[in-house]
Amino acid sequence: MSLVVVGSVALDTLETPHGRADEVLGGAATYFAIAASFFTPVQLVAVVGDDFPPKELDWLSSRGIDLAGLEVRPGRSLRWSGRYHEDMNVRDTLSFEANVFQTFAPELPESYRDAEFVFLANIAPTLQARVLDQSRNPILVAADTMNYYIEGARADLDALLRRVPLLMINDEEARLLSGERNMVRAARRILDMGPRSLMIKRGEYGVLYFSGDTVFAVPAYPLEQVFDPTGAGDAFAGGTMGYLASCGEVSPASLRRAIVYGSVLASFTVEAFSLERLRALTREEIDQRYRQFVSLTTFDVL
Ligand code: AMP
Repeated sequence: MSLVVVGSVALDTLETPHGRADEVLGGAATYFAIAASFFTPVQLVAVVGDDFPPKELDWLSSRGIDLAGLEVRPGRSLRWSGRYHEDMNVRDTLSFEANVFQTFAPELPESYRDAEFVFLANIAPTLQARVLDQSRNPILVAADTMNYYIEGARADLDALLRRVPLLMINDEEARLLSGERNMVRAARRILDMGPRSLMIKRGEYGVLYFSGDTVFAVPAYPLEQVFDPTGAGDAFAGGTMGYLASCGEVSPASLRRAIVYGSVLASFTVEAFSLERLRALTREEIDQRYRQFVSLTTFDVL
């Protein structure tokens, strides 16, 4: 089934304790779309400038990502620059240049409007709502957001949350949104704001899923070295939504498998800078690591 994603496609400059990469492929929608493309065709809605490397657009197309909804406008592409500390859970944004993204007003091509699965990556909640207005009867809509909108566009975000069945945010965002430090209490507060289900991404500590009385936890895959955590959360969302779209249904069992697939995609993403590890990744490697999660989490009940 088809999966639409709306969000940023960017050029990133990254500094980590392991090195530096200048103006490399980035953007939340890019990580999402590539991760999802291992499972299902993806329809991308975004804007880039005319400086965006054509070879990167060719790569996205070659992965089965439909670019009919990607606008190429005169001007510079979104640029973001971030630096990770020795503790890579901590990151400073060094610069953010919205450029052509400043006036982004997502418009879904007609061929996208019946997509059964929709992911609203991290952009202004009014723009996320605009995409929802244009989609007809999706089976599942999921959204991400960030501190900037939680603090700066709270009324718009609150209105959006009443329309989004699945929210996928990180632990810091969950704390800010709920005013609670404890994740279980935070989840309860957030589920009262509208979403039926919530996935809290906790970096190296894994993911917590909350829905009604259900809580499901998946650890992060234990890696010896994390090179670049950028986009891990977006790749998680892409793996999760991509797998669900490939199943064509959202049952409690498929959701659990989807969360493990999402965790697998996130773990590969952080093994190299930018999307480099995902370029070389195969479905066989994904499935192999997916199976390793079984032994990682199984134990005998005496
Ligand atoms: P994450 O690591 O999940 O925070 O995602 C990082 C990606 O989001 C990077 O590749 C950036 O290009 C992109 N990004 C950073 N800031 C923003 C923003 N304010 N709006 C949209 N995308 C952003």
